[in-house]
Amino acid sequence: MKIVMMGIQGSGKGTQSKLLSRHLGIPHISVGELFREHIAKGTELGKKAEQYINIGELVPDEIVIDVVMTALNSPETSKGFILDGFPRNKVQLTAMEESKPADYVILLELDEQTAIHRLAHRLECPRCHTIYGKNNPPKQEGICDVCGATLVQRNDDQKVEAIKRRMNLFYQESKDIIQYYEKKGVLKRIDASLDETKVFQQILRALGV
Ligand code: AMP
Repeated sequence: MKIVMMGIQGSGKGTQSKLLSRHLGIPHISVGELFREHIAKGTELGKKAEQYINIGELVPDEIVIDVVMTALNSPETSKGFILDGFPRNKVQLTAMEESKPADYVILLELDEQTAIHRLAHRLECPRCHTIYGKNNPPKQEGICDVCGATLVQRNDDQKVEAIKRRMNLFYQESKDIIQYYEKKGVLKRIDASLDETKVFQQILRALGV
């Protein structure tokens, strides 16, 4: 099953993708995470991407499409994938439709104020990428329950300006993509304002799994 997850930052894409990945036994590919790994390792690609990510702008298409298509063509994704953060514009959509068209697109719908509030409380494990928030804090403050690493706040979550820029970009760039998927009949709208478990139940129902 080839699934695309869409929604503004803070709508729960990462959290729900991870739950779904475990449930379906197919990998979760987060474009943002792929980049953050490159940045942490100090690769050339990471250095290029960092300049855009830190100010809340999209990384140029030629870089993103190459990174994502390499991941989608790897043997691990032969049974499908949950793709989070791609496609984000028409060029990326075309690249995807030509080689790996989505069977389902999950759109997590959430208002901007709630999303900003969630992002202010979001902490992420730099090692295993588990995400924590106000409603699902770690058992020990600042420490990952899963692997014990010290939790961090993402660089791009610390600046309200960068958050707002990312949200505006989402609305501008995703309108056409959402319309395209809706017309194609693969779009599933989900109310992402509910708690994690209820959102997940809606997704499972929408996918019929
Ligand atoms: P995310 O973890 O999805 O919030 O992504 C973090 C950052 O990575 C974004 O703000 C962008 O700078 C970059 N990024 C992620 N996905 C894409 C994409 N499909 N196209 C361009 N840039 C991306």
